[in-house]
Amino acid sequence: MTRSESLYAEACELMPGGVNSPVRAFRSVGGTPIYFEKAKGAILTDADGKEYIDYVSSWGAIILGHADEAVTEAVAEAAARGTSFGAPHAGEIALAREVAGRVRLERVRFVNSGTEASLAVVRLARAATGRTKLIKFEGNYHGAIDSLLAKAGSGIATFGLPDSAGVPMETAHATLTARYNDLGDVRRLLEANLQQVAAVILEPVAGNMGLVPPSSEFLTGLRELCDAHGALLIIDEVMTGFRVSRGGATERYGLRPDLVVMGKVIGGGLPVGAYGGRRELMEMVAPLGPVYQAGTLSGNPLAMAAGLSVVSRLDKGVYARLEAMGQRLQDGLTASLQRVGTQGHVQRVGSMLSVFFTEVPVTDFEGANLTNKALFGRLFHALLSRGVYLPPSALEAWFITAAHTEEIVDRTVQAFGDALNDAVAIRS
Ligand code: PMP
Repeated sequence: MTRSESLYAEACELMPGGVNSPVRAFRSVGGTPIYFEKAKGAILTDADGKEYIDYVSSWGAIILGHADEAVTEAVAEAAARGTSFGAPHAGEIALAREVAGRVRLERVRFVNSGTEASLAVVRLARAATGRTKLIKFEGNYHGAIDSLLAKAGSGIATFGLPDSAGVPMETAHATLTARYNDLGDVRRLLEANLQQVAAVILEPVAGNMGLVPPSSEFLTGLRELCDAHGALLIIDEVMTGFRVSRGGATERYGLRPDLVVMGKVIGGGLPVGAYGGRRELMEMVAPLGPVYQAGTLSGNPLAMAAGLSVVSRLDKGVYARLEAMGQRLQDGLTASLQRVGTQGHVQRVGSMLSVFFTEVPVTDFEGANLTNKALFGRLFHALLSRGVYLPPSALEAWFITAAHTEEIVDRTVQAFGDALNDAVAIRS
């Protein structure tokens, strides 16, 4: 038994499924999760001392590499001054200035996770419009909140169904689900629910069904449809923020969101989320307005210090490097697929990518689900044994950091080719 296996057995006696977030449990690829002891740059070391090249990167939260010295120092210095005041401090202003400037937000509020930020913007959007319904996209994820854990209703039903036990039917019904990259679907929902939709929320580059890029007509069309129907446009930049460009997807695609949800990178690996937008909307939030939202640890000094240390260093050079490494990885993986003769597509935006084992490129959730998940599961384990740690699900994005060097990417490509050979040979 490896140390990871014995730790997992122990954890299962204490925590549901042994984990604190479900996908970590390896359920969709089989086997037992790896326990990590430390990480440096792009390399993880597990509890048995084995090293892996990391493509989870804490689900995108890590962009400059693990245990970056400046981040570690900033956190240690902040900790020495006090881990939490429950009162204002200058660190909040510094990160707010950096974040608001990059995404052009007039006001921003920090919370502790992406989930918490989504919860707040939904409440705010409903208060601002006096409407209840929401439109989200199939395969997009905005955190584990009742209002957004809805899946598409079947057939002509225009209301959502709960995607989790415990979500009241009425709550799910208020969430309408459209097909990603399908403006016609959004138009149909808005027209069938005139004056009732508070907001449309989307991942501007989908990362939670594997990496699915938006079409440019989709993004511009959504803004027009929201304007025409008096609905707010909420851009969820939790994954894309400060990753796909200096100012996230908002900058990369020239978006004009009413509200933006953020997380991951802005915390530099510590728990931070944020939401922001136009001043008149954000000033509806307490203490200025009637929308209540609060948090004991919000704006935590350690988290603000880590976030500032990372975000303030994300310049053009970093994005150029991430783009170059992303391209190198994409080219290498695509060549491997061709060499092995496996049908597949490597989809990428900047430093986020996924391999879909499908006949055609993926543009929506239905297409993403056609990927050969059994093959992915075998590939995942074949790569794990070769020292490459992918997200443990076929429908997740892989994340590159600035610590992924050419040599690391080339080693990954080599391992991928070998692992793919093994994975197709087994064919269970
Ligand atoms: N929005 C998006 C786009 C996400 O990818 C995630 C998390 N993967 C969330 C929201 C929720 O963020 P958190 O896990 O920090 O609550």
